[in-house]
Amino acid sequence: MTGQTIAERLQAVRARIAAACERAGRDPREVTLIAVTKGFGVEAVREAVAAGATDIGENRVQEAAEKREKLAGLDVAWHMIGHLQTNKVKDALRVFGIIHSVDSIHLSETISRRALTPVPVFLEVNVAGEATKSGLALDELHEAYAAISRMHNIEVRGLMTVAPVARDAEEVRPTFRVLAEAARGLGLTQLSMGMTDDFEVAIEEGATHVRVGRAIFGERAR
Ligand SMILES: *Cc1c(COP(=O)(O)O)cnc(C)c1O
Repeated sequence: MTGQTIAERLQAVRARIAAACERAGRDPREVTLIAVTKGFGVEAVREAVAAGATDIGENRVQEAAEKREKLAGLDVAWHMIGHLQTNKVKDALRVFGIIHSVDSIHLSETISRRALTPVPVFLEVNVAGEATKSGLALDELHEAYAAISRMHNIEVRGLMTVAPVARDAEEVRPTFRVLAEAARGLGLTQLSMGMTDDFEVAIEEGATHVRVGRAIFGERAR
């Protein structure tokens, strides 16, 4: 990976997405690649966008706000992918066009109250029930979805998950499969799942949004 430019790595990720789609009999246009720039500066964002990135992912409101300000006029969609505190919702709505990490009814209520226009969101699900992770539990998903989908100015687009850390991406295939089944059960068609270590498996299991950082930008310093 070293020695390659962001543009070359982005192209390589796109080729891997296309190959995974091919294996799964899917159209690559069904998969949105979100370039995750957290921990990297505005130059990295500029380079990725110059190389064709259309969607940028960030996990902190403040960091994203600063980048967006410096990149004013750049025509990209900003995706919030990290845990969102209710006291940051107002700022988040200014910075992001879509929120992947809605993990509670309380957060949804705050978004609903603050939003001036409909906000597309994914509901984050903690599929493996990991104590260290945020996200709705599978057994509370139905009820949460019923409540959230009725809220004003919130549009639930689909489900999102962060798979457990694994040595082999095959180990997390069941996690993605469970999320896809849960989405189907709710009549939702969009799935935000898959990162650097597992995006190909996620695509094979139906991901419509993959969130890829390191494979494009290299290892993060922090
Ligand atoms: C950092 C992050 C990513 C990207 O992870 P990489 O391993 O760098 O591809 C994706 N999703 C979430 C929620 C993240 O926090």
